[in-house]
Formats: sequence, C-alpha cells, structure tokens
Amino acid sequence: MNPTISESDLALPARILNLLDCGVIALDAESCIVVWNGWLVPRSGRGAARVQGQPLLDVFPNLRGSRVEAAVLAALTEGTTTNVPPSSGRAPFPLRQAGSFDGAPIEQAVTVTPFREGGEPYCMIEIRDISGTAERERRLLDHAESLRARSYIDGLTGIANRRHFDVALERELRRAQRGDGALALLLVDIDSFKAYNDHFGHQQGDSCLSTVAQAVSAMLRRPADLAARYGGEEFAAILPDTTLEQALSVAETIRAHIAGLNLEQAPAAVHRQVTLSIGVAAYDRTRLNEPAALIEAADKALYAAKRGGRDRVMADADATTPAVPAL
Ligand code: GH3
Ligand code: MG
Ligand code: MG
Repeated sequence: MNPTISESDLALPARILNLLDCGVIALDAESCIVVWNGWLVPRSGRGAARVQGQPLLDVFPNLRGSRVEAAVLAALTEGTTTNVPPSSGRAPFPLRQAGSFDGAPIEQAVTVTPFREGGEPYCMIEIRDISGTAERERRLLDHAESLRARSYIDGLTGIANRRHFDVALERELRRAQRGDGALALLLVDIDSFKAYNDHFGHQQGDSCLSTVAQAVSAMLRRPADLAARYGGEEFAAILPDTTLEQALSVAETIRAHIAGLNLEQAPAAVHRQVTLSIGVAAYDRTRLNEPAALIEAADKALYAAKRGGRDRVMADADATTPAVPAL
C-alpha cells in the first residue's frame, strides 16, 4: 500500500487485506481502482498510490479484450461472478514472483465478484498464485506417464515386460481373428543359463540377459513385431501377419545371430557359447485361437528343442500345416 502510511495507521480490515496471500483489486462502477492490496505491490512493481483512481485498463493495457475484462464488465453491469481459469502460457496480469521481478511469471487463477457500495456497482478481483500448483500438476502428470510407461517395460533389459506381452498377445489374437490373418509366437530360452550364472556370477548373468534381449529385439524387422521378456531367462516374440514358416525363419535368424556372437559359456553348459532354444507356434482359427493355447503350443515346441539338444528352433508339431524347421 501507500508507503507513506504506516501499517499501524490502517484500520484492521485494511491491515488484514494486506496480509492476504492473494492479490485483491476493487474497482468502482467506472472500472477505476479503489483497492490495491499489499500482495500486489512486490509482484507488480506498483504501489497503491500509483494506481489508486486509475482505470484498470490504463494500468494493465494488455487486459483489453481479455477474459478478465469481460468478467469485470459482467460483474459491473450484470452482477455476475466469474472464475477466469488459468490459460496455459498466458497469465492475465503481468505479475512476477515476489523478490525476483525479472523472475518467472506468476500463473494465475482469477475470480471477479460483484458487490454494491452506496447503491453503485463495484467488483473485487482476486488473483491467486497457482504457479506451484500448476508445476506440481505438471510433475504429477509426467510422473504418472513415466510410471505407465515403466509398468510395461522390463526393468533389467529395457524391452517389453510380461504384462505388455499379455496385452499385446490378446490384442493381436483378436486382430488375427477379425481379419482371418496370420500371427506367430516365438518362445526363446537361453540354454544352460543356470550354469552360466553359477560360473560367471549373477551380475554377468544379468548383462547376458540384456545382450540377448537387445539382440532379439533388434532382429525383429516389422514395426508391429514385439519382443518381450517372458520371465527369467525366457523371451517371447509376437509376430503379427506372420505364418509359421515365416516365423521359423525369423527364429532361425535369431538363433544363428546369438550363436554367432560367440559369447563365452560356462564349462558345465551343453554348448561352448551362449545359445538359444526357440519354440514356434502360429495362430490357428480352430485350435490355437486363445493366448493360453498358443503359448502352450510354443512352449511344447521349445521343450522339444531342448530335448533335441538345444541351440535349435522347433515348430509346433501339431500344426495343421506341417512346417520344416528352417535350419
Ligand atoms: P535349459 O538349457 O534347460 O534352459 O537350462 P537352464 O539352466 O537355462 O534353465 P533353468 O530353468 O534350470 O535355469 C534358469 C536360470 O536362469 C536359473 C536362474 O537363476 C536364471 N535366471 C532367471 N532370471 C534371472 C535374472 O534375472 N538374472 C540372472 N542373472 N539369472 C536369472
Ligand atoms: Mg527357462
Ligand atoms: Mg534356460
């Protein structure tokens, strides 16, 4: 307020007005400022004496044509109360954080309330600083978004997790059923991984899992293909619009690529380098038309690959269109 008037000279309501943690402006019927509380002084750089009796639009020309001006007119002519919600990137009043006049603009929520004094229409403009709230809301939204993303990603390998796999398989199966299309599933298991862990330690085991996950993921060419960590040292690949024969060839490329990396294996392992066994099954309208059935068929094929000596690809043996593993 007016710096020449000391706080103790002010009446109690005026002192309380200056203690409020929001801006308060009162306008008379001509939209001239009659009250300007202390909160506004450091945030606007203007004392009460400078603005007292001035038309609001002379003090803040940028309010011309704004929602605040419309709200003031509605209050003075129709007696309407208006909440002017914050609009992103454009604060109605040119106010800045107190103590840093060059600092960040204040995000504002504004309420315009009419009242009458001596039979004349007046209105009060309340300005609340919602910068903190808006910032918190943005941070919460960002956090929620990152949680949502993380809840579908395997923390160790960075590829899709089991939950993501389940959702994707269900969705792709429904899509295949609707369009009578093709869909294949690969179940990939690292051979003798217990021996690897026992020999090299769990940490190197983890890094081997990441290497395999990245390699499997990189071998999938189509945008709709999905590589996921199915659990432990098992991975899965969902290949939409892919027949059993095509999927066998993709599986073989993955198997050969990992074997070709020549990653040292433990002496107790079946093979000298890190290898994969892969089971492949494909959607079949009558037999393999549910996630559980398709997974079971791929799992059986994987088991057959293990029994057959590991480092190999096996197809679902009960497939109606017999497929020869592309070795
Ligand atoms: P097979 O060739 O029959 O697949 O033999 P295996 O040793 O790979 O299979 P088994 O199921 O006996 O062992 C799987 C191992 O994978 C045991 C477990 O400790 C390891 N494993 C599972 N998840 C993780 C993980 O997140 N990190 C590490 N380092 N090891 C894991
Ligand atoms: Mg396993
Ligand atoms: Mg294994």
